[in-house]
Amino acid sequence: MPSEIAVEKKKLKNPPLQLHYLGDRVLRQPAKRITKIDDELRQLVREMLQTMYSKDGIGLAAPQVGVHKQLIVIDLEPDNPANPPLVLINPTIKQVSKEICVAQEGCLSIPNVYLDVKRPETVEVSYKDEYGRPQTLKAKDLLARCIQHEMDHLNGVVFVDRVDNSLTLAQELSKNGFSYQAVKPVA
Ligand SMILES: [Zn+2]
Repeated sequence: MPSEIAVEKKKLKNPPLQLHYLGDRVLRQPAKRITKIDDELRQLVREMLQTMYSKDGIGLAAPQVGVHKQLIVIDLEPDNPANPPLVLINPTIKQVSKEICVAQEGCLSIPNVYLDVKRPETVEVSYKDEYGRPQTLKAKDLLARCIQHEMDHLNGVVFVDRVDNSLTLAQELSKNGFSYQAVKPVA
């Protein structure tokens, strides 16, 4: 269900929250389940959305702004004022497809690095929305990829951990000022 939280989709010179970047240990710390869904949390959701829109992102997970809570915001149409964002609290994957697909990913925590990542094509996820209502969602294509990417952040995993081509990865990271040492390949 689309979010009822309304935030103006515009780029702020000073977004309310600060992003953490690859190499920062904050990104590696797993997020905790949220037990209280209240106005304070909804304010965090608003600030995460404002930060995401300001940085031209389509998804943001709370650990990226230094908050270790299981909270994700997504908006695949940041330029469309009529498209409501998606807010996922305590998301769990119920099912993933056997079909795997490859597509390029990027991340607000690793600016300018875009690389191919293999992921299941579709996912079914259950979560709570920003009013604590339980929801389930079957996602495919870009939305499925985005949900998996953001859920990785909740487990301290970054998309570069899933990149197969380590030579290209090392080159792209160093070109953009990041260290390959910061990558923790997933088994
Ligand atoms: Zn990311």
